[in-house]
Amino acid sequence: MEPNRLACKVCGTLALESTLLVNSGLCMSCVRAAADKALSELNDALWKKFGVLYVSNPLALSRNKNTSYRQSVLTFSLGVAQAFDELGLATVSLLERYRQSPEHFYIAPTDLTETGNQFVGACFNKWLAKTDRWKPESRTAQKLKESLAKELRRCE
Ligand SMILES: [Zn+2]
Repeated sequence: MEPNRLACKVCGTLALESTLLVNSGLCMSCVRAAADKALSELNDALWKKFGVLYVSNPLALSRNKNTSYRQSVLTFSLGVAQAFDELGLATVSLLERYRQSPEHFYIAPTDLTETGNQFVGACFNKWLAKTDRWKPESRTAQKLKESLAKELRRCE
C-alpha cells in the first residue's frame, strides 16, 4: 500500500503523513529552514548577551529524531570547526571539541583570535542565515569550509 501523502502547511509540498505528524505539519525542508533561522536569531542574541555561539543546534537536535536532519546539522558543525581551525580563527582546537561532543558543539569568544571574534561579531550569523537556502546535499564539510573562507575575505 502507498503511504499517505499530505501537503506541508508552509510550502504545500507533498510529504509523508508520518513526517508531517511529528513536525507540526511541516515538511523536512521547512523544518530545517525554520530551525536554521531560529538558530541564527538565537545566536545573534546569545553572542551579544553571553558570548556563546551554538553551531550544532541543541534545541532542534533534541526534538528532531530525523536522521538526515541530524546528519546535516552535524556535518555543518564539523565543517565550521575545521574551517575555523584552518583559517586561524581559533586559539583552541575546535575540531577536538567537536569530536568530544558533536551534538553540543559551541564556540565562545575566548576560543577565538581577535580576527575570529570580529568575524563572528560582524559576519558569521549572516553567513549562517545564507546557508539556510542551501540544498541538503550541498551541505558538505568541504563546501562549508570554502564558503566560510570566502565570507571571511568579504568580511575584512
Ligand atoms: Zn514545506
